[in-house]
Order: sequence, then C-alpha cells, then structure tokens
Amino acid sequence: MKLFDVYPINDITITKAKGSYVWDAAGEQYLDLYGGHAVISIGHTHPHYVQRVTDQLNKVGFYSNSIRIPLQEELAAKLGKVSGKEDYQLFLCNSGAEANENALKLASFFNGRKKIIAFTKGFHGRTSLAVAATDNPSIVAPVNQTNNVIFLPFNDEEALQACFRAQGSEISSVIIEGIQGVGGINVASVPFLQQIRHLCDEHGAVFIADSVQCGYGRTGKFFSHDFAGVNADIYTMAKGMGNGFPVAGIIIAPHIQAKHSMLGTTFGGNHLACAAALAVLEVIEQENLLNNAAEVGNYIMQQLKGISELKNVRGRGLMIGFDVPEELKDLKKNLLWKHKIFTGEAKPNVIRLLPSLALRKKDANEFIEAVKEEIAALVPTH
Ligand code: PMP
Repeated sequence: MKLFDVYPINDITITKAKGSYVWDAAGEQYLDLYGGHAVISIGHTHPHYVQRVTDQLNKVGFYSNSIRIPLQEELAAKLGKVSGKEDYQLFLCNSGAEANENALKLASFFNGRKKIIAFTKGFHGRTSLAVAATDNPSIVAPVNQTNNVIFLPFNDEEALQACFRAQGSEISSVIIEGIQGVGGINVASVPFLQQIRHLCDEHGAVFIADSVQCGYGRTGKFFSHDFAGVNADIYTMAKGMGNGFPVAGIIIAPHIQAKHSMLGTTFGGNHLACAAALAVLEVIEQENLLNNAAEVGNYIMQQLKGISELKNVRGRGLMIGFDVPEELKDLKKNLLWKHKIFTGEAKPNVIRLLPSLALRKKDANEFIEAVKEEIAALVPTH
C-alpha cells in the first residue's frame, strides 16, 4: 500500500528532537521555528512531559468516558487557573476541526439558529461545519456545502454591522481566529473583536474564538482574543495543548447550557491525553512561558522590522509573519537547506514563525543572522 499524498513534503526524516531543535537521520541539527505547525508549545521531548506521559502509560493508558477520570477534573481546574477562565466548562476532544465542529454545533443547540458568520482567509479545519466555515472552496466537498455560512471581510466593522442589521435574529455564531494562521498571520483588530462581542450580545449570537493556532500562550496571553479585553462564549483549542499528543477541547461560558448528550467522543479526554495536557500547563506555568513568548516574540519582530527588504512584519508573541518580495522567493527554501532552519509559509509569499514558546533569544539570533546572510546573498546590491 502507498501513502495517501496529503501535503507536499520536504525529504527529511527527523529521528531526534529536543527543545527548539530537531535532528535528521544523518545527525544534522535543525532549528525548529515551525514547531510542527504550532503544535510544539513547551519544546520537543521536555523531560517533565516525557516523565508524566510515560508514568501515565505505565498506570492506565485508556478507559472509556463511562467511568470517572479524575485527571479530566484536574486538567479543567488547571486550565481554568492558567487561562483565567475559571468559570468556564471544559469539553475534551481530539483535534482542532473537532473542537470547532463541536463549538459550532453547541452554539446552534443553544440558540436554535442555523447561520454562521465566518471571515475571509479564515481556517477552521476539515470536518463538515469547520470546513464549511473555512474560506477555501477547494477543500469543501459537495457534501459539505451549505448556505448557512456567511463570509465577511476580516476586520471590516461596517460589513459586520450591516450583516447583523439584516439577519441578526438568524445568526447562531460568529467564529474568528484572534490571529489568522493558515490565512497568513492576520491580526484581528481590537475594535473588531469588541464589535463582535457587542453585536453577539445584542442579537443573542455565540462568539466562538478559534484559538487552535493562536491560543495556548502563543501570543504572550493565553488567548489572543484577550488583547481586546473581551471574553468569547466558546474558545476552541488544540495544537499546543498536547505538545504533540493529539488532544483538543472547547471551553464554554457559564451561560451556555450544554447537556451532556449534545457532545461526545470515544477518545476525547483519555488518560494519556490528559496527562500530556497537564504536563504542558505545568511547564507553561513553571517556566513562565507566556512571558517568554511575549519577550522573545517582540525581540524577533523588532529585529525583522529592522530589515528593510522584509515587508509588513506582523503578529503577536511567537506567532509572526512577514511578506517576502519576489527577489527573496528562495528565502524559506535556503533557510531550510543551507541554514538548517525550519520555518512555515502561507500563500502567496508569507513566511510564518510558530516556534516553541520556550524559544531562547540565542535561537532567535541564529535565525536573524541567517536571514540577513541570505538577503545579502540573494540581493547582491544589499
Ligand atoms: N483552526 C485553526 C485556526 C487551525 O490553524 C487549524 C489547523 N491548521 C484547525 C482549526 C484545524 O485543526 P486540526 O488540523 O487539528 O483539525
């Protein structure tokens, strides 16, 4: 059997990983500024994480949700404390798409409505509702097509206002990434997020904060929507939550009444997933990783802004993007093959950085120096 060809791949096999570094089969070291697509939050193979997951595997790896799993309660309490959303309820599942699927469904159960507002360049996953709310028709199969999703321009307060004025009583939810990731690192403006909060309150719609990529401390705050000083009704989380172990969840504001029969999953909240997620939160807390993400992220952003060839440097904390002009189109490729640095990309010409929240200034400097060197090589007049 051959593998289903999902993504274009780089011909590299990673056989060892530690902190912000990985090694290939030949022993070559790479700096990882992609974090496996924002998944590696506390660094690869963190000793506390390895210990906690291994200990749990030796005790009990899995039993169904038909029994009490105290680790789930421990995780809910810890997550409430670290995120500051102590009065929310936690539902555990397995992936970002599943989290968004459940959030959109729960909102509709709650207010009995069908319409969803989503935004241009937004990405929410590949399951039926999540993909229908994703602005990429090429991944929406005929069976996923629905006219219940209204796409509005991102950060456009007037369009949002007009939509609610016309159809406010039909809107079930508004789903928005605090910073669009796949769409190219586009930061939702503070007034826009505040307006979503205001209009949802006014019209009885549910504000869903997709925090799958921009959440979990990546921006220096636990949820990037926190920069606007507003609370969403539901936050969805995945990627960084398990540092590589598949675990995801949604947290639900107290006024949203969820009956247990509305949501469910076999693997969600299993013992190993909870152990992994708890280890991540413990390390985030112990190592003060939110502060580190803010500090090292600001540093990288300042340095990149000082390089005149790079355009529109943007983001928050350790979620950073910048545009690469045509003459630097080989920058990403050269960073990988010549400088052994993994970065991410977004269409058309954006480089995305999503490193571990524990990235050190010294690692950041390695990247900045490599970028400068490459620009000097690619733009000879520099
Ligand atoms: N939401 C956002 C913002 C994402 O970036 C992604 C993944 N790229 C998803 C949802 C879907 O997550 P998953 O791949 O775990 O289903």
